[in-house]
Amino acid sequence: MPAERSRPRTPTGPAMASFTLHGIPVSRGIAIGRAHKLAPAALDVKHYLVAEEHLEAEVSRLQQALVQVHKELQTLWNELPKDAPTELGAFIDVHALILSDPMISEAPLDIIRTRHYNAEWALLTQIDELSAQFDEIEDPYLRERKADIQQVAERVLKVLMGTAQILPATTGEDGFQAQMIIVAHDISPADMLQFRDRSFIGFVTDVGGQNSHTAIVARSLDIPAAVGMSGASTLIEQDDWLIIDGDAGVVIANPSALVLEQYRERQGAAARARKKLQKLKKTPAITKDGVEIMLMANIELPDDCPAAMEAGANGVGLFRSEFLFMGRNSRIPSEDEQFEQYKKAVVAMKGRPVTIRTLDIGADKPLDQTEHTALNPALGLRAIRYCLAEPQIFLTQLRAILRASAFGKVRILIPMLAHAFEIDQSLAMIAQAKAELREQNIKFDDDVDVGAMIEIPAAALALPMFVKRMDFLSIGTNDLIQYTLAIDRVDYEVAHLYNPLHPAVLQLISMTIAAGHKAGIDVAVCGEMAGDIKLTRLLLGMGLREFSMHPAQLLSVKQEILNSDLARIMPQTRKIMRSMEPNVIADAVEQLQLM
Ligand code: PEP
Ligand code: MG
Repeated sequence: MPAERSRPRTPTGPAMASFTLHGIPVSRGIAIGRAHKLAPAALDVKHYLVAEEHLEAEVSRLQQALVQVHKELQTLWNELPKDAPTELGAFIDVHALILSDPMISEAPLDIIRTRHYNAEWALLTQIDELSAQFDEIEDPYLRERKADIQQVAERVLKVLMGTAQILPATTGEDGFQAQMIIVAHDISPADMLQFRDRSFIGFVTDVGGQNSHTAIVARSLDIPAAVGMSGASTLIEQDDWLIIDGDAGVVIANPSALVLEQYRERQGAAARARKKLQKLKKTPAITKDGVEIMLMANIELPDDCPAAMEAGANGVGLFRSEFLFMGRNSRIPSEDEQFEQYKKAVVAMKGRPVTIRTLDIGADKPLDQTEHTALNPALGLRAIRYCLAEPQIFLTQLRAILRASAFGKVRILIPMLAHAFEIDQSLAMIAQAKAELREQNIKFDDDVDVGAMIEIPAAALALPMFVKRMDFLSIGTNDLIQYTLAIDRVDYEVAHLYNPLHPAVLQLISMTIAAGHKAGIDVAVCGEMAGDIKLTRLLLGMGLREFSMHPAQLLSVKQEILNSDLARIMPQTRKIMRSMEPNVIADAVEQLQLM
């Protein structure tokens, strides 16, 4: 078996081979910490850290599971029919032997105690290490025993999953928890959500695109992250020291003392700049020539509202309600459960509008990780298409949203509309939900505004159909770019083609803003373009007056707005909009930032 690689004790300790990986930047900032590798998601188990005081209970949970599997194997053996082939008995013996081996019965317990991993994660980590060692064995017979080890692990996992899980540790001050960087092949948006309250300081994945929902959640957590780092999860080893440069999409493993020092300095400078921005929290976002801009927050869960308030948001421009539905093994939250969550957000925003987007499930946000997805999920039964195909789920959600509208200002936003009949059916469902509530004497706001997400090119090219029927529009640039340029936003192999400045994309955005204004209805951008300070002036110049973004991006965008003069920006934007030449557009957008 291969010798275990010695682990670096400190970032300046005995030198390990340093290497740099390049990928796609998804969440800005610099993180310096130790690598914590996630076991393959295929086994679909929970990963969380266990608080110090619960460690022994977690150890005993795993021990009990091991005992239980022993008993199961014993029962299997006892119940073997007399005429059963001898291999079957031998097979059970091998599994029992594996289970008793200290590599399975003791090493994972040490992992729980030293790394604070939950039992399932600890077991998988150990199995991963063993599997890697088995891969290097030359004897094919022994090499194949890897499958037996995995089968035994699956038996233990099955038992573990049926037992109560200890609550994960929340953000702690201690150094151990405060410096973990997750390294994985991929992380689903639902898993990413699981990590929200933990003290991971960064993420690195082999695959993923800049605007995948996993990347979006990483951004909303405001921790440095890089995706599309091909090979990261194999090249980086457990406990390696890592620097993530989230602005450049670079990861440096086992950096030299000099490099580390440089990054610490940059980290300090960024922290000082962020602190300075805090002064703008209460300042309204008004351009130099006196035009007020609405800065709204994008949230995934009601718990994000305090951060939105803290950043001085004018309201919530996009509540991605599907995150309430994910990671629940397809169990749909009841009307009351949903109502409590929507109400929580509405109350937390203290009278500011909360725009609740109806369920946008599908594509990279399946209800359940294990469910079979369509051949082409981004083009399949997603968002409003799913809701209209599942009217009971949709109606339940609409009732819950409407009930929350009795507690503050709520707006309903419908994703992925393309057809007039989809708009009409959605409005009819809202009318039905209202009628039911009225009948039951349940309070709601009868004047709740209903808006459409403009995120399919067909919608941007048929705006009269929308402005006639809707109270407001919100441009989902993430999908608008995906569908206009025909590139999967999750696929890192085409990530280089994902260009918000493509003239076709700019034309569609500009047309939507103009059509909304002409019809006298509000238009917002709630895709990631709204939080990109390199694009703030371009969007202002196109006439955008409402931006919705993660709370962490809000103050930088506000600073940009405060320094902008529309009278100077508009002519330059018109020039950009007349061009179909990428280089001309890119140069002119750069100039816009210097104005
Ligand atoms: C968008 O598509 O731009 C958007 C805001 O929605 P989502 O990213 O959730 O698809
Ligand atoms: Mg979208």
